[in-house]
Amino acid sequence: MDIRIGNGYDVHALAEGLPLWLGGVKVESPLGCIAHSDGDVAIHALCDALLGALALGDIGKHFPDTSDEFAGIDSKILLGRVMELIWSRGWHVVNADITIAMQRPKLAPYIVPMRECLASLMQIPVERVSVKATTTEKLGFVGRSEGCEVYAVALLKHDEIETAD
Ligand code: MG
Repeated sequence: MDIRIGNGYDVHALAEGLPLWLGGVKVESPLGCIAHSDGDVAIHALCDALLGALALGDIGKHFPDTSDEFAGIDSKILLGRVMELIWSRGWHVVNADITIAMQRPKLAPYIVPMRECLASLMQIPVERVSVKATTTEKLGFVGRSEGCEVYAVALLKHDEIETAD
């Protein structure tokens, strides 16, 4: 059995009046992420975990923020492209676990919709996708609501071909 683990990390600065997308879901918030794409920092960290598992670099390499092609792009499209890279190499996702650090707003109402969205994009059951949210007890840049920080871990397994003995 061939399995691989990857981790991802991303941060975006927050500013007033921008939309906030997290885990493919629009979150009601006075603050949104400053970004070249739609700023979905949770999907970005997840993409880096998935790419990292197969040592395929990072999303900055695959989708450069200097390219007009990715200006304002829906990060669900980026995750879809990462999944194509994984599937085309004969791998699939076993599970993923994502931790979002943000001081406000409260993300509890959005956790299940995020899990459902990400599970659908990775084509795995929702029970295999964990999304957790934490504050940093008002400490640091997250605590001051200057930024949103996300950690992600993903486990991949190589598709096994059934052989008759
Ligand atoms: Mg990013």
